[in-house]
Amino acid sequence: MQTKSEIFVEKIIAWYQVNQRKLPWRATKNPYYIWLSEIILQQTRVKQGLRYYQKFIETYPTLQDLANASESEVFRLWQGLGYYNRAKNMLATARYLCEHCEGKFPQTYKELLTLKGIGKYTAAAIASFAFNEQVAVLDGNVYRVLARYFGIYTDIASLQGEKEFRELAQSLVPTQASEYNQAIMEFGALQCTPQKPNCMFCPLQENCFAFAYQEQANLPVKISKLQMKERFFAYIVWHKDDKIAMKKRSEKDIWENLYDFELQEKNGLEELHSISTNEGTFLFHSDIFKHQLTHQRIFIRFFHFEATENSKIPHNLTWHTWEEIQHLPKPIVIVNYLQSLQKTKNL
Ligand code: SF4
Repeated sequence: MQTKSEIFVEKIIAWYQVNQRKLPWRATKNPYYIWLSEIILQQTRVKQGLRYYQKFIETYPTLQDLANASESEVFRLWQGLGYYNRAKNMLATARYLCEHCEGKFPQTYKELLTLKGIGKYTAAAIASFAFNEQVAVLDGNVYRVLARYFGIYTDIASLQGEKEFRELAQSLVPTQASEYNQAIMEFGALQCTPQKPNCMFCPLQENCFAFAYQEQANLPVKISKLQMKERFFAYIVWHKDDKIAMKKRSEKDIWENLYDFELQEKNGLEELHSISTNEGTFLFHSDIFKHQLTHQRIFIRFFHFEATENSKIPHNLTWHTWEEIQHLPKPIVIVNYLQSLQKTKNL
């Protein structure tokens, strides 16, 4: 007998073969075209994105053509789409690939993730659509379909939610990863929609948790981010001659007057993936820690760098020995981190 998961995969693919919209980026395996479409479609409706996609591939038929373009030309073509950072990162990635990778996209999810402007979703989309890698895509449509069909109430905006859904999504991906990933997203966009899902004519109805318990309106669960602000801290920990650079927080913000390190505040988890500076030598980075305050959830990663003679370290940092640091007032998250560091690195 087939499992609930097997039925899900089989029916989603069968539904897609009949109901999919004909979109030009689905008719290609060219990673450049797929990447272009994915970047354009972030925050943009398919109908509007389609026009831009066509303009871009007509103007820049190859990755090299895009890499040769000037930023102002690309921005002009991008006009009306907003979020210009997308266009900026796109151009930077095209130039990088042409200069360092013979104008070719890497073929694995892991390698794609290292490129500028490519987060988990886009990396999975390119790896699976273009190279059929068995890696799950996870976007709003996928969260919704999985939460409803399997009856999952974990907050999709939480780290735990992301982990749980990612594991489930990954366990479902069949060998036809390319077709299945496109199918589940299309199913969420057309059939299992946020409002008024078409349950009456749904092939998954018989096994769907939300349909059985009439829970469509309550799934997926997303706790408002307005109530809980999320922040993303990249700390740069400078080392020099057995000393570490710290600064006293003076801004009207959390942890006023406590000591921390050079801080770069980022916009999302994916930006804590890596960090670069021309000012020193990278040593190592920590895991990402989650620190919960009453109204803020802070994700923190520490990046350690060795300062050189010529490093321009921000002027508000001062050098302290390990001994001195023990006596400085610090946020608890930094106290804990330094303690763990002391154990693991023998400082
Ligand atoms: S039955 Fe309704 S809620 Fe369940 S998967 Fe189908 S459209 Fe979505």
